Amino acid sequence: MYINGNWHQTDTTIDIENPATNEIIAKSAYGGKKEAAMAVEAAYDAFSSWSKLVAGERAGYLKKWYQLIDQHKEEIAKIMTSEQGKPLKEALGEVQYANSFIEWYAEEGKRIYGETIPSSHPNKRLFVSKQPIGVMAAITPWNFPAAMITRKVAPALAAGCTSVIKPAEQTPLTAIRLIELAHEAGIPKGVLNVVVGDAKEIGDVWLKDDRVRKISFTGSTEVGKLLMRGAADTVKKISLELGGHAPLIVLEDADLDQAVEGVISSKFRNAGQTCVCTNRVYVHQSIYEPFMNKLKDAFQKLRVGDGLQDQTTIGPLIDRNALKKVKNHLEDASNKGGDITYLGQSLDSENGYFMTPVIVGNASDDMLCMKEETFGPVAPVTTFETIEEVVKRANQSPYGLAAYVFTQNISKGIRIVEDLEYGIVGLNDGLPSVAQAPFGGFKESGLGREGGHYGIEEYLEVKYISLGL
Ligand code: ADP
Repeated sequence: MYINGNWHQTDTTIDIENPATNEIIAKSAYGGKKEAAMAVEAAYDAFSSWSKLVAGERAGYLKKWYQLIDQHKEEIAKIMTSEQGKPLKEALGEVQYANSFIEWYAEEGKRIYGETIPSSHPNKRLFVSKQPIGVMAAITPWNFPAAMITRKVAPALAAGCTSVIKPAEQTPLTAIRLIELAHEAGIPKGVLNVVVGDAKEIGDVWLKDDRVRKISFTGSTEVGKLLMRGAADTVKKISLELGGHAPLIVLEDADLDQAVEGVISSKFRNAGQTCVCTNRVYVHQSIYEPFMNKLKDAFQKLRVGDGLQDQTTIGPLIDRNALKKVKNHLEDASNKGGDITYLGQSLDSENGYFMTPVIVGNASDDMLCMKEETFGPVAPVTTFETIEEVVKRANQSPYGLAAYVFTQNISKGIRIVEDLEYGIVGLNDGLPSVAQAPFGGFKESGLGREGGHYGIEEYLEVKYISLGL
């Protein structure tokens, strides 16, 4: 763990497992209440000086951190693949994506503008300024071990906040490597702190401590709701990036190659374990056959395997429970009349949590995989007749994170986009996430936005100053 600029060991450790081989690749320090409290203390102390630096000085530290991550990107990617499983090329892509937030917010920190407001009194002048909210706590998941940290921490630091971070217990090694580089970049002690340990204990300490003014969480809707309730006692600001259940709609006039490419890129990132992964494919009934043929061809090219091997396009799932959930969804789909086809190169391995890609044809809305996050390489495909019908079915979900629409008729596409109750829509695009754009969901998918100028607002308080002359 990294607290107040120092490395912190504990007697208790946890094993970090490689999900492709089941080997224990490292042991991590594992703490709880005590370390969580120490981290807040350090972050609170550091806030007074970090927040007083001018934006350009904070940008200087962030840029140095960015450069060091860039120089070490291959090494970080290997660490990520070893503890998380995603193919090395994807891991490298994530490190670059993660680093793009540091680069972008280093600059954006310089553009935290205030406002002047016309006064209603001749002898008054009204101003608005923005200031950093204080200590922020980042609680992050295992599916993006680097990007979920930098997407929170980069805007927070750029705004002048300090941070306590709890990475997921499955993937602390990537976080620790990033923090080593932050240390090397000279980011002052206490500005960034990483605690690994009992999630509930750490979360509870941070929720109760009124010096923590902001919680930024990415993870399950269930834990997000717990944190939201807990944050009420000290009325903390909270950002939540929770679950999703993304529909992908293919209209009859879509470019089918582009739509299939969209399914592959939105479905198989991280073996289907992202909250913006396509969960349900709705294809206009008139093009079901040609679409399915192309989709099956594309699936055949996928190769399941250890992410460290070159040919691998789909790594293992994160753990045994993840595999169990996917199999449960498939059994349910099969019982409800789904047409299950395993495709792509599977892997005959005793070890690792590997799952062959599957298409569920003839999917119906009552199947678990059409309602709940499967978090695996499963693509249920169903048909629709009219736009009104498909929009209604797509919106029939408590989630509202990402949706995808494929059509060559952009006017029609825009109208559908406007009717979808989703925070992110890829119109003819299966990979919409970038540092400069807002990422976040409607409904139970979350609160707040990360990325772009929206992302930095989450770490700022608005101060109104009324000046009497
Ligand atoms: P997932 O199903 O993706 O693992 P979780 O919501 O369980 O999603 O985990 C996301 C992050 O939230 C992880 O860092 C995990 O340790 C943390 N977490 C889980 N339970 C709690 C809790 N009660 N309080 C605070 N953090 C928690």
